Amino acid sequence: VNEHALTAGLEVHQQLDTKKLFCACPCVIRDDPAEFVVERSLRASAGESGETDIAAQHEQKKQKRYQYHGYQDTTCLVELDEEPVSRLNPQALHVALQVAKMLQLTLIDEMHVMRKTVVDGSNTSGFQRTMLVGVQGHIEVEGQQIRIEQLCLEEDSAKIMQRGTSVDVYNLSRLGIPLLEITTGPDLHSPQQVKAVAAYIGMLLRSTEAVKRGLGTIRQDVNVSVPGGNRVEIKGAQDLENLGLLVDYEAQRQKALINLALIIPKQQYLVQDLTVAFKETQAKFIAKSIQEGQVALGVKLAGWKESLATELMPGVRLGKELAGYAKAQSFGGLIHSEEDHTKYPLTKEVSTIKQLLHCSDDDGWLLMIGEKSRLLTFYEHVLVPRLQQLSVGVPKEVRKAEIDGTNTYLRPMPGANRMYPETDVRPVSPDTAHVQLPELLTERAKRLAKQYGISSDLADQLARDGVAKYFEQWVSKYTNVNASVIANLLVSKEQEIKTRHNIIVDMITYGPVLLEKLHEGLIAVSSIEDILVKLAKQQVVDWDSYAPADETKVRATLQQLIADNPGASIGLLMGKAMRALENKVDGKQVQRLLGELMLNE
Ligand SMILES: [Zn+2]
Repeated sequence: VNEHALTAGLEVHQQLDTKKLFCACPCVIRDDPAEFVVERSLRASAGESGETDIAAQHEQKKQKRYQYHGYQDTTCLVELDEEPVSRLNPQALHVALQVAKMLQLTLIDEMHVMRKTVVDGSNTSGFQRTMLVGVQGHIEVEGQQIRIEQLCLEEDSAKIMQRGTSVDVYNLSRLGIPLLEITTGPDLHSPQQVKAVAAYIGMLLRSTEAVKRGLGTIRQDVNVSVPGGNRVEIKGAQDLENLGLLVDYEAQRQKALINLALIIPKQQYLVQDLTVAFKETQAKFIAKSIQEGQVALGVKLAGWKESLATELMPGVRLGKELAGYAKAQSFGGLIHSEEDHTKYPLTKEVSTIKQLLHCSDDDGWLLMIGEKSRLLTFYEHVLVPRLQQLSVGVPKEVRKAEIDGTNTYLRPMPGANRMYPETDVRPVSPDTAHVQLPELLTERAKRLAKQYGISSDLADQLARDGVAKYFEQWVSKYTNVNASVIANLLVSKEQEIKTRHNIIVDMITYGPVLLEKLHEGLIAVSSIEDILVKLAKQQVVDWDSYAPADETKVRATLQQLIADNPGASIGLLMGKAMRALENKVDGKQVQRLLGELMLNE
């Protein structure tokens, strides 16, 4: 008996910031207009065992064509599957071995590149190349040991740009980017723990300083089950916050489905042509579809009225959940009895539907619009099995993460016979003798704070933002500049200037220009922002105008201010002094001198 309310495991996919895995193209994702377009159609082929993948068959039912958008500088013949691959990128392998070490994995002695069948068109070849790097490791997060089942090094897929009924459009620039795939054991038991473990793994990966950063560069899939439920894999969590919600809502969905299974009776389903009910419909999309020769099919769900309205996740009732299966097959959805029909608008058609299907007040119904043979295939192979499953419980399947934390049906759980060897690439015997463990970002932050006397907040940000190496270089080069000033330049100045001046400063380029002058004592710290804005706007900087006021002048000004403002607080005098000295002076220096002078009064 499972004592936990839920059981979850993570699959983390991280893009590497190297060249592509099997060619020399850069890992740059472009989304501007394509430089060339090619079109393909894929057929599922029988695997080694002779069986065709059920996921492959499922996709084939959709009879899709695929359009690939490419660019001269980020794609070559390898991405187009026009040229065999040869060498595995050694840099990517090195990072994979580093991560394997961090995860305490047992390395595979001889690593083989395998082909994993992919049938949704996201790989031009119809497969994804992947290699198992290590197995059976562990990490410790919040005092709990979490098993790491495996680490794979694989190639990223092409990015979907548009899904249509007959054509899907993909962007090729992402295809072939090295990806690390880390799979944890099913050892997680709360949304909070899933978030914490995902955050920790993300930190480990960024510690290598060889991974891509930013939206979409790390993707988390999570599998969730509750006692009496089933293993459901949810793909594409947007961020850590989203991940926690996903786990929580999926547990809710499974519990609701388990309860529904007790209520929904096993029954026979009958599909009926309801096209006649829409002869004079006001619903424009239905009128248009029927004009084009499509049909409206309906199914009576005896005794289902309340069940269809049952909420599975916030804002997702069973009817909407079922519509997700039609959407996954590229049908414009599925209309059910327990939704607001005025939005379509459907009014008197509803009573005609009920009449034609012989529905009583307790019954529910489903309505589907589409091309007849495709609808019937969907009905027979997808919808009826799904309806029957409702009397049993939670189906094992792959689902897609939505931005609000809910999830929708994506495809059936793929079968096990998806791999066969890639014969174009030789096996690799890893040499780990020279593979060093990187300093963890959490350790780096602690060290920076201690070593350079900066606040732990600043140190955390330097480590987290991946700019610690510039910080350390700059601090050792520009020794007359306060370490906190340098840290601030790297972690917050860019954002401050963007907010205030709406301009982006490339700090890695302009930081050293500025620090050189500060180091020489040629400019005042208070003029940093002014100067950076000018540099970013490519304006000429009159460095002399930012020269710091000399101490004799500062002292004289301060003495005058103290005399003119008897009894004024140090704060008030600070403000007046900075204005009087036109900010050409370090605030800390003014504060120190004011303290001295006021003490001598
Ligand atoms: Zn390439």
